[in-house]
Amino acid sequence: LMGRLQQQADLPAETKDGHRVELLINAGLSAELEAMNSDVSDGVGLYRTEVPFMMRERFPSEQEQCQLYRAMLQTNPNKIITMRTLDVGGDKPLPYFPVVEENPFLGWRGIRMTLDHPEIFLVQVRAMLRASLGLDNLKIMLPMITTVNEVNESRRLIRQAFYEVAEEAQLDGQKLVMPEVGVMLEVPAVIYQLPQLAAKVDFFSIGSNDLTQYLLAVDRNNARVSALYDSYHPAVLKALKFIIDESQSLNKPVTLCGELAGEPGGAILLLAMGYRKLSMNSFNLSKIKWVIRSLSMDDARLLLDEVLELEHPHQVRDRINRHLEALG
Ligand code: PEP
Ligand code: MG
Repeated sequence: LMGRLQQQADLPAETKDGHRVELLINAGLSAELEAMNSDVSDGVGLYRTEVPFMMRERFPSEQEQCQLYRAMLQTNPNKIITMRTLDVGGDKPLPYFPVVEENPFLGWRGIRMTLDHPEIFLVQVRAMLRASLGLDNLKIMLPMITTVNEVNESRRLIRQAFYEVAEEAQLDGQKLVMPEVGVMLEVPAVIYQLPQLAAKVDFFSIGSNDLTQYLLAVDRNNARVSALYDSYHPAVLKALKFIIDESQSLNKPVTLCGELAGEPGGAILLLAMGYRKLSMNSFNLSKIKWVIRSLSMDDARLLLDEVLELEHPHQVRDRINRHLEALG
């Protein structure tokens, strides 16, 4: 198998019937970026900026963040790096910023916290923008968006940071480009606000881990209810189908960056639905590329039609596994 995976390294991520797929990586540690330089990946679909924050003893300064982000953007200036603004809270506490809550997953997470602390948000966005001077491969992504107003507020702050950095840059004769700004789709409410959000942002990215957790009301880290936590639940699959259909009619690019994209069965269903941008942990890249190259889209669509009629996640898995066995 390793031999087969090696052989495909230079070949495109394309189905047997010619559907091209963009394969991106999820990263948090600088070391994970090495995978980006391989030909397999088309860039970074999700850089979890909270990871370097969690490894420190205090908030990193603007200068420290800027150096870190600059190193990432320079790794390969031809490949996009999608940097997500700080997504702490929930299961990702900062040791030097203690928050005690009854229900952390329904609490002060992601954009909710950073909009209440605009100084944290502004420092981070300024660092990203300064890091991107002279480059044009940065995208900014907002986590845990629930309301359109959070997007308005975030964009206002991003604009403020942009003007500040642009002014400083001009003094040095450098040009700053406004990066694309997108939102994570992971709170179920936004499924019903896609047209309003599409008017405000450049792209969508689905966080299927949180979307599953919130659609099913199952804590993604609670072992007692882990059997219920399943992205193959028919409701999750229908939500994913709805999102791609809506995004296509709104002409808005959409990536999927949860664990589902890195599972062979998940990737097949997503491709059949119409997704063409998948972001995953780098160790899943070769496997998923192999699945894509073995796949016929017509067969995958037939499989999806069948799967969408099923009632239980375990039936979905059985059906997908039979399909995977047939692929070899
Ligand atoms: C997700 O929720 O699917 C996601 C990609 O973000 P995280 O796992 O960091 O919450
Ligand atoms: Mg998430």
